[in-house]
Amino acid sequence: MFENLSERLSGVFDRLTKQGALSEDDVRTAMREVRVALLEADVSLPVAREFIKAVEKKATGAAVTKSVTPGQQVVKIVHDELIGTLRGEGDPGALKIDNPPAPILMVGLQGSGKTTTTAKLAKRLKDREGKRVLMASLDTNRPAAMEQLAILGAQIGVDTLPIVKGEDPVAIAKRAKTQASLGGYDVYMLDTAGRLHIDAELIAQAAAVRDVAKPRETLLVVDGLTGQDAVNVAQEFDDKIGVTGVVLTRMDGDGRGGAALSMRAITGKPIRFVGLGEKMDAIETFEPERIAGRILGMGDIVALVEKAQETLEAEQAERMMKRFQKGQFNMNDLKSQMEQMLKMGGMEGMMSMMPGMAKMSKQLDEAGFDDTVIRRQIALINSMTKRERANPGLLQASRKKRIAAGSGQEVSDLNKLLKMHRQMSDAMKKLGKMGKKGLMKGGLG
Ligand code: GDP
Repeated sequence: MFENLSERLSGVFDRLTKQGALSEDDVRTAMREVRVALLEADVSLPVAREFIKAVEKKATGAAVTKSVTPGQQVVKIVHDELIGTLRGEGDPGALKIDNPPAPILMVGLQGSGKTTTTAKLAKRLKDREGKRVLMASLDTNRPAAMEQLAILGAQIGVDTLPIVKGEDPVAIAKRAKTQASLGGYDVYMLDTAGRLHIDAELIAQAAAVRDVAKPRETLLVVDGLTGQDAVNVAQEFDDKIGVTGVVLTRMDGDGRGGAALSMRAITGKPIRFVGLGEKMDAIETFEPERIAGRILGMGDIVALVEKAQETLEAEQAERMMKRFQKGQFNMNDLKSQMEQMLKMGGMEGMMSMMPGMAKMSKQLDEAGFDDTVIRRQIALINSMTKRERANPGLLQASRKKRIAAGSGQEVSDLNKLLKMHRQMSDAMKKLGKMGKKGLMKGGLG
């Protein structure tokens, strides 16, 4: 899977990782090649552009860890961005098949692998979740397709709805529902007819079936080898019928894997499964981490950078702890704590994670302390000089006036900040004496 893309990308990064320092030009050149690689893999242009922009932004000014080269750092950034693009927002979770019998509607073009995927999923539900599944083919145009599903059903030990000649798709869907209820099935899967292209009749039929079946999931099966076409098909099906997820088939081929990357970004629909071959077990849930790893094919570098980052963070935490123990908790520390607080869901979230801070959290709460206050306090710290930040003891009346004015606040606001700094500094000193463990648990560093 993704061989073309992954080979091209590794080529780009091979050249990068061999160099010592990384210049802005290097990043730009590399990104140009990444862009070509993405486009050749049939990733859509806006998605490729967005991707490059995000990587460039993160790569420029990224803190580079001593033990990895800047090139390796870029690989990691690309890796993380791939995961982000593949994942999109919100986790669709497992198939919704509670309230038996749960209908699953399978839609897609002819030849996409829809019937095969229906059987693969049925087998998976049976084998992994012990579900009783009933499959029904609604492809009244092609008797062979109905036969095919029956044969696959027999092969995997999943029941299929008996074929009744001359019945229309809506009638079959209704019969499947009745049969599923009476027969005590957990799930029934409706394999709708496919066409070579999307046309009005296909859509009308799928919509009519959808309206009677009221599916819990509508899964669109698309051929992953068709690149951007797969994404266009998905967009159209979603507009006209509404889908809850996509299954990308033929991801075992070494074709253009770009569909995976564009799908979520363009359609907003999650890829739920990937088909990896003709056999009935050749299906996997879609895992962005795994796919990103395959696209890039540079797992060892990613692991190396992750390890280096962990080491760096541990070293930083240790250095910080040593300073805190000595009572050297300065305004820069306070500022970075505050910024962390904002990132971690504000004051409340942060305080609740720090031992001994619960009481202070309550006090702050009562004093009406919220994120706006934190932002104003950060502004106060920002208008201090470097020396003042490092040594808040310097702050006498005239300096205080200047700082307060500089951030559009009152000296009394600054005094509140200083008081809080003192309290935290004392708390840190005590915490420091409790040892490293106590501090780490506090989520600092
Ligand atoms: P339908 O017309 O959409 O129902 O497509 P089928 O289920 O009949 O599949 C068409 C062909 O694609 C069959 O030969 C399948 O074995 C094959 N196929 C389906 N899924 C995959 C896949 O993930 N990988 C590969 N290599 N072949 C697949």
